[in-house]
Amino acid sequence: MKPQLLIACDFDGTVTRQDTLVEILNRFGSPRWREIQERVVSGELSIREGLEAEMRTVKASSEELRSLLRDRVEVDPAFHAFLKRVRAHGIPLVCLSGGFDLCLETVLTQVGLGTLPFLANRLVRNNGSWHVQFPYPSSTCSACGHCKGDPIRTWNGQGYRTVFAGNGVTDRCAARLAGLTFAKDELLAWSRAQGVEAVGFSTFADVQRELEDRRWL
Ligand SMILES: [Mg+2]
Ligand SMILES: [Zn+2]
Repeated sequence: MKPQLLIACDFDGTVTRQDTLVEILNRFGSPRWREIQERVVSGELSIREGLEAEMRTVKASSEELRSLLRDRVEVDPAFHAFLKRVRAHGIPLVCLSGGFDLCLETVLTQVGLGTLPFLANRLVRNNGSWHVQFPYPSSTCSACGHCKGDPIRTWNGQGYRTVFAGNGVTDRCAARLAGLTFAKDELLAWSRAQGVEAVGFSTFADVQRELEDRRWL
């Protein structure tokens, strides 16, 4: 019998080719943002602290952010075909993002995927500066802003075989817990260093091929 799959994907650098936060910070943030990011990757700052500090340096309006994202951010061209295949099998697919609701809404709407379900942090503008709200606090993980491990644990408990694809530092908890993890970039290097089992991928065509080879799709 085929397992009942549930597919969860990171958004930035996984569904998209560019990272929406990197695009925003490169264009509108302080040049110091890379130092903040290095302190997050090294563990000196939490992901929450890093996100808040980085976004505090951005003064642009929401329309400026949206317009930049529409210009700069592309979705993996293989994602549409993958999503179609997955939906034809009745398999749920959810985006789990350590980024911001505004970014997912803007990019997904632009490519006709405005109804794709996602969980993300919330970006709120107050007195001319940006603040980050974390609507999915975790009782088990203090490291992540939005811990992607929590929903994976819940879905595993509901009997789904969870498949996760990601590329970055906010994907580590999900990568440890998913039934099958696809990883690239920083997440792949981390998985190898930590002995976390992960299949390397570069686009959703690779993910689709692997799931087909396993006869899960
Ligand atoms: Mg990412
Ligand atoms: Zn976590």
